[in-house]
Amino acid sequence: MSSSGTVVIVGAGLAAAHAVAALREGGYDGHVLVYGSEPHHPYERPPLSKGYLLGTTDPAAVFAHPASWYDEHDVDLRLGSTVTALDLASHHVMAGSDRQRFDKLLLATGAQPRRLPMADDSGAPVAYLRTIENSDRLRSAFTSGARVVIIGAGWIGLEVAAAARLAGAEVDVVETLEQPLLRVLGAEVGQVFADLHRDHGVTLRLGVQVSQIRGDANGADVLLADGTRLEADLVVVGIGVNPDVELARTAGLAVDDGVLVDASLRTSHPDVFAAGDVANAEHPRLGRRVRVEHWDNAIRQGAAAGRSLLGEDVAYDRLPYFFTDQYDLGMEYVGHVGPEGYDEVILRGDVPGRVFTAFWVSKGRLVAGMHAGDWDAIGPIRTMVTSGVVDLDTLRDPGIPLAELAG
Ligand code: NAP
Repeated sequence: MSSSGTVVIVGAGLAAAHAVAALREGGYDGHVLVYGSEPHHPYERPPLSKGYLLGTTDPAAVFAHPASWYDEHDVDLRLGSTVTALDLASHHVMAGSDRQRFDKLLLATGAQPRRLPMADDSGAPVAYLRTIENSDRLRSAFTSGARVVIIGAGWIGLEVAAAARLAGAEVDVVETLEQPLLRVLGAEVGQVFADLHRDHGVTLRLGVQVSQIRGDANGADVLLADGTRLEADLVVVGIGVNPDVELARTAGLAVDDGVLVDASLRTSHPDVFAAGDVANAEHPRLGRRVRVEHWDNAIRQGAAAGRSLLGEDVAYDRLPYFFTDQYDLGMEYVGHVGPEGYDEVILRGDVPGRVFTAFWVSKGRLVAGMHAGDWDAIGPIRTMVTSGVVDLDTLRDPGIPLAELAG
């Protein structure tokens, strides 16, 4: 791409930060303009439900780069500025009265928490977790003896439950499915997380719907479909996110559970790209589309989008990766179980002691692997899942070390 042009990035999250870095590292010295609705320069969200929420992470450490980095890299960072429309025919973005021409555009708009109207309309104290301010609010609410009801036993629900318990709060987690993290980890490993939380004093209410929330500024009554009534000082809702596609949809880009992009992260318009939580990308290695809502994807896909904007030949095929820290359990996961699910999960190690590895198998192929508390395992796991080919009898044999299996 000509170095005299303008790249506009909509969204100032992690994908944007890493796209900018790739542009500058790739020698682009044209105008780079980043619009972000939030008042902060790009930051990492994982600490917001872990160390930052617990107060153990230095607040300055959540930022992708120090504030000075943007000046040093000549980035026109417009914070607190929301892009309201795209005019793709004339190559312009509009942010209120500001109208800006682009040569190439990257949509890194991310995702927004799914709302629970019965909670929002209840008048009770209700919180979501997506931003630094959200995390600050939770931290100040999590005090000894505070009663916290968390709706949703996904990543936010469980990490927030751990932080609340560690602060001494009384915690109930309500989930419609039969196990925490069921859709992503399945019942076998979901059970490990259920045990972990019960062992730390969380009351899990699984396989039940919330039927009503009543309350006022002083607290909430959360009524469950099985007749249970929970009293809460704070209700935290963590029921997933929706990709922020409105700008793309209104502009006429192809959208279907995210902005549709090819493996080079190009949308249905040749000069417009998308990366991060919002991008539903063709994945050459998986052989299907995938939209990944995790930190590692925002970083890697953002950087790949930067290279694509430069005109490099990019095929983004990194396997999804995520991690969690809850109490003293740390885990990492690589791979993706597709819409058809898995046939078998092979567990190795000390599952009750929560130091183990798990491998998901579909149609004889290894499609995903994880470890809990076995940090040296992630290298072999990545190698094995990337290959996908494994002798299942050997994998089932706990006597054969992983390093040997990975070859
Ligand atoms: P999530 O991981 O998708 O989990 C949401 C959970 O809430 C699901 O189990 C969902 O079940 C359940 N749920 C949906 N509606 C419900 C209802 N009305 N009542 C009770 N349960 C309900 O989403 P999240 O925890 O909100 O996290 C938000 C985003 O942040 C995700 O993209 C996540 O990947 C990301 N995140 C990642 C990490 C990490 O990687 N460690 C940490 C924090 C956040 P259904 O599947 O049936 O809808």
